[in-house]
Amino acid sequence: MSERSFDISRRRFILSAGFTAAALSLTPRQFFGAEQNLVAGARASGAKAKIATQALRGNVSALIGSGGNIAVLPGSDGKLIIDSGYLTSRPQIAAALDGISRDPIKHLVNTHWHFDHTDGNEWMHSAGATIMAHENTKKHLSTTTRVDDWDFTFPPLPAAAIPTELTGAEKTLHLNGATIALRHYDPAHTDSDISIYFTEADVLHTGDTWWNGYYPFIDYSTGGSIDGMIKAAEANLAMVTDKMIVIPGHGPIGGKSGLVQYRDLLVTVRDRVAALKGEGKSLNEIVAAKPTAAYDAKWGTGFVNGEFFTKLIYKGVG
Ligand SMILES: [Zn+2]
Repeated sequence: MSERSFDISRRRFILSAGFTAAALSLTPRQFFGAEQNLVAGARASGAKAKIATQALRGNVSALIGSGGNIAVLPGSDGKLIIDSGYLTSRPQIAAALDGISRDPIKHLVNTHWHFDHTDGNEWMHSAGATIMAHENTKKHLSTTTRVDDWDFTFPPLPAAAIPTELTGAEKTLHLNGATIALRHYDPAHTDSDISIYFTEADVLHTGDTWWNGYYPFIDYSTGGSIDGMIKAAEANLAMVTDKMIVIPGHGPIGGKSGLVQYRDLLVTVRDRVAALKGEGKSLNEIVAAKPTAAYDAKWGTGFVNGEFFTKLIYKGVG
């Protein structure tokens, strides 16, 4: 059975089962995702998103609750914002930004091209932001991009939403009295991932190379892979110190211990799935063996459950 038909038959099963115990054991987001396309469901959820503002250090704050985690550095050069959340959350995000300071929105950086980090680009640009990102983010946002694992095709974004200031391997910004270092990862979650490091505040935004407390999505359609995710987790660990505050792409603010747990999770599950695949087991047999079972209660309650994570790893091993 192909992966695609596996997905569809699972959806049919959930729909035909109605409100059975199996359906009720899913989180609302998973159940919603089973009824609707995952991207459409995620965007719809943004309308009801509650945004929490968390002050971190050195004037850097995080807005948590709409798509990927957003970082904000206000000041006399205008606000610098990292990632733009769902368009459907615009009123809540705008209110949260106003709550931080009255400085205008001037600079937006995208950690990578995904919709839950870039849907708000157009309105932030209309509010005054110049958009910066890795050149591959511009490439994917400018063209039709299909993500099979989301069963979704993204049309090109309007010109106002496309980054116009591009980074390659590294770039340093000087804004609002801070030194901000942008660094491209080798292909990991996508081929467009960058980290943003607020040097004086010692706050790092990892984009979606780190999902704190959740199995990550891995976007093979635009260059991602499990081995690339592990290399990026190692790169984050090489940089982190005991004092550094780390903003993950998804999940709560954390630091070194969380990054260590996450790297260990990726390596352990990757090795298990690779061993089963090496024994000649099929995808369905490997999913049935539940190689993530011991981790699902802690890591499998978000966007990606244990079965989906197993399938994402299977694609990239052996
Ligand atoms: Zn992403």
